[in-house]
Amino acid sequence: MKHRLALTQGVVWMMPKEHNNKVKFEKASQCKNGTVSRVCFSTPMGDLEMKFCPSGIHTLHRLSKDDSDFSPDIWTKVSVKQAEGSSEVHSHVLSCLDWLKAFFGQPSSRSLAEKPSLCFGNRASGFYPLVWETLAREVPFGTTISYGKLAILCGSPGGSRAVGTAMRENPILLMVPCHRVIKSDGQIGHFSGGKSVKQWLLSHEQNK
Ligand SMILES: [Zn+2]
Repeated sequence: MKHRLALTQGVVWMMPKEHNNKVKFEKASQCKNGTVSRVCFSTPMGDLEMKFCPSGIHTLHRLSKDDSDFSPDIWTKVSVKQAEGSSEVHSHVLSCLDWLKAFFGQPSSRSLAEKPSLCFGNRASGFYPLVWETLAREVPFGTTISYGKLAILCGSPGGSRAVGTAMRENPILLMVPCHRVIKSDGQIGHFSGGKSVKQWLLSHEQNK
């Protein structure tokens, strides 16, 4: 399902070709459910790239691989920075946009945002997607859980190392909230995108 762009949403769609701040997208790929498209959002934690197929969101991650350039700005408005392909806005883009606005916005708006559909593509079965789905479902905004407790929730007591690996492999930042998984002694533990990003996200969620 696709929607025409609503100008009132303040969405910047299809950046002009001459725009020199353009993000270079890689070649489009395929999911068993259809073509995978890409979009880039401006957010308070920097630019986030999302990939999605007709079935749901595949990936959401910071464009930067580490936190060396991490300079969060809470005044940055969540908006579509750039999209590839057609001038029509896909419903997954709109639902992700709403969700991100709620995540970074006022607590009162948070419960109103519906969780976008996720698609794990050809990784839809096995232990990792079970961990991702359990985490997304059971560990809400402003809370944390230890690797060990998450392993128990997934029916695998003693599987905290495998949970740690699942977190490293997490394809969908924020919506699969791997930043909420910390060590049992309270230390924040590893984060693939850099510890300062994880620390900032945890602080952001404490200031709810
Ligand atoms: Zn898919």
